[in-house]
Amino acid sequence: RAREMGGGRMAWFDPTMHAHMVEQVRLEHDLRGALASGNDIWVAYQPIVEMVTGGLAGFEALMRWSHPKRGNIPPGVFIPIAESTGLVVSLGTWVLREACRQIAEWQDRREPGSAPLFMSVNLSSHQLSDPNFVQVVREVLRETGVEPSWIKLELTESAVMDKAEQSIRLLRDLRALGIKLSIDDFGTGYSSLSYLHKLPIDSLKVDRSFVSAMHQSEENRAIVRIIMDLARLLGFDVIAEGIETSADANLLRALACDYGQGYHFARPLPPADAGRLVGGDLPWQMPR
Ligand code: C2E
Ligand code: MG
Ligand code: MG
Ligand code: MG
Repeated sequence: RAREMGGGRMAWFDPTMHAHMVEQVRLEHDLRGALASGNDIWVAYQPIVEMVTGGLAGFEALMRWSHPKRGNIPPGVFIPIAESTGLVVSLGTWVLREACRQIAEWQDRREPGSAPLFMSVNLSSHQLSDPNFVQVVREVLRETGVEPSWIKLELTESAVMDKAEQSIRLLRDLRALGIKLSIDDFGTGYSSLSYLHKLPIDSLKVDRSFVSAMHQSEENRAIVRIIMDLARLLGFDVIAEGIETSADANLLRALACDYGQGYHFARPLPPADAGRLVGGDLPWQMPR
């Protein structure tokens, strides 16, 4: 059959396919090692700004892997491997704990009375289906002494909509801990409108693909405007991701977008740089 499909070679002996599989297995092995030693994985923090004031509102924690032999391996490569092996559950707990510890430390340095910063942490659907997940989050909050309302968990539409009724119950339990919830990459998955209004969430993140297409046509701008209107109607905040130019920022500000994130403001930063931003040691002019 493989022969009939062309190529004249048995599909399961395809050498490129085989090389790819060996590569995946090797990376998975190395990733397990990195997690166990805690040496080569770390968290980058990308600033999220309040659109109106341009002030720092919070960060998104983004996992990084500096492989000792291969250099930086992007999340787009290692997250899917971690997903397919289930390793993403323990990696996710590691990132959550690290991000909570970090924001608690930073918050201590802030002037008393200044608005608290929030910390967004990405979740994989595997974490959501872990029966211990709520308990794990409760434990991490307790351990790190973080104020739950500073923590925002980002979930994708598909992670939530796959088992909508079950997810809604879980999201309620999470929210009962006092944390915030956000739908990531909104508009790229399938969201059933009949569920969207039932979701106990706090914000929508407009996917980067919509933001970068905005300047191209009135239709693309209309899509972003409709997402904003929908969010407002349902009582959610809106965060736009992938803001790369001041033109993007201006358009979004005109649409009364609440928060923004993107290379225009800042790239994901190593913890030390993000920390200097928090402490105000960096004379950082937030670009408009
Ligand atoms: P995401 O959650 O949508 O994160 C935003 C991604 O957009 C990040 O890519 C960020 O570096 C990138 N980005 C931010 N601003 C801009 C911009 O202006 N232009 C462009 N072109 N890109 C921008 P990154 O760090 O490579 O992460 C990719 C994805 O990997 C994330 O997408 C998220 O889905 C996943 N990921 C990262 N860290 C974690 C984690 O700790 N756990 C889980 N489950 N997934 C993670
Ligand atoms: Mg995200
Ligand atoms: Mg996103
Ligand atoms: Mg995205």
